[in-house]
Amino acid sequence: MSAPTRFKASCPDCRSTAELDPDAFRLALGRTSERTYYSFTCPSCGAAVRKRAGERIVEALTGAGVRTMRLHLGQQPSTVA
Ligand SMILES: [Zn+2]
Repeated sequence: MSAPTRFKASCPDCRSTAELDPDAFRLALGRTSERTYYSFTCPSCGAAVRKRAGERIVEALTGAGVRTMRLHLGQQPSTVA
């Protein structure tokens, strides 16, 4: 086994790029890819960043054990702590 996967994430606020562990991310799965997002907190400026997650990103993040919550229409997102 190699070292745990890390993901490069870029912050639109301060434009820095950081490498983050999987547990720094949250993935919100909507019913469509347009409602599927991943989020993280920028380690440089502390901004809460949320970005659209495409299919490959979802696969990579879930495969690495990123915490996932499923969003369903008409319900508030439930957070798994
Ligand atoms: Zn930032």
